[in-house]
Amino acid sequence: MFIDTHCHLSKEDNIDELINRCTKNGVDALIISGCDKKGIIEGLEIIEEYSNIYMTIGFHPSEVNTTTDEDIAWLEKLIKENKKIIGIGEIGLDYYWERDNKESQKELFEKQLTLAEKLNLPIVIHSREATQDTYNILKKHRLKGIIHCYSGSLEMAREYIKLGYYLGIGGVLTFKNSNLKDVVKEISLDNITLETDSPYLAPTPYRGSKNSPEYIPIIAEKIAEIKETTMEEIASRTTKNVHTLFDLKIHI
Ligand SMILES: [Zn+2]
Repeated sequence: MFIDTHCHLSKEDNIDELINRCTKNGVDALIISGCDKKGIIEGLEIIEEYSNIYMTIGFHPSEVNTTTDEDIAWLEKLIKENKKIIGIGEIGLDYYWERDNKESQKELFEKQLTLAEKLNLPIVIHSREATQDTYNILKKHRLKGIIHCYSGSLEMAREYIKLGYYLGIGGVLTFKNSNLKDVVKEISLDNITLETDSPYLAPTPYRGSKNSPEYIPIIAEKIAEIKETTMEEIASRTTKNVHTLFDLKIHI
C-alpha cells in the first residue's frame, strides 16, 4: 500500500470517487494538510467522514499577517480533541511569495515549533527560497518531520536527514529538468516519504492539470526506476517510514 503524506482536499472535490480511484491504485491512506482557517475547518469534516484520511494542521507562512496567538491556541485545542490530527503543518518560511516580512514569518514558525514540542508531534515543513533560515531554525529544535516537496541539493538533503527529517518526494521528480533524481539516487529509501501536494504539482504526464493523490504510483514508479528496485519495495519502505513518524491508527 501507498500513503500520500501531503495533499490538500476540498469539500468540493468528489471525495467518494477520489477514494475509490486511490484504492484502485493502491493508495490506501491520505494525510491532508490544513494550513489556513478554511482548510482546517473543511479538513476536520473530511477526516470525520473518511476513516483512512488523516490530517496535519498549522498556519502556512502566507497566513502570517492574519494569524494571532489565539489562532495558535485554537490549533492546540483541536489537536487535543482529535486523534486524527497527527502532526503540525504545513509550517515554515516562504521567501518566494513573501519577502518583506521575514521576521514575522520566523516568529510564526517558531511559535508552531514550540507547540509541536509541547504536544510531542511531528511537523511538516514548507520551505521555499528560505533553505538556510529554515535549516538554522530547525537545528535549534529537537523535532522530527517531513521536508515537504523537497527540491534542494543533495548536500542540504543530507543535513536535514541528519537532523531527523524525511524528504517528501512528489511530482517534481518526474519533471524533465528536475535535479531531484540525483538526490533520490543518493539517499536511502529510509529517508523518503511520498506525497502529491495535490491539487498542485501534478506529475508528468499530467503536469499543468489538477493533481490527485491517486497519482502517487507515478512518483513511486520513478523512484523505483532511479533506485533500480520494485514498486513493492518503494511501497513497503515508504509506508514504514510514515508509520515510524506518525501515530497512524489505520482502520482499513
Ligand atoms: Zn501543501
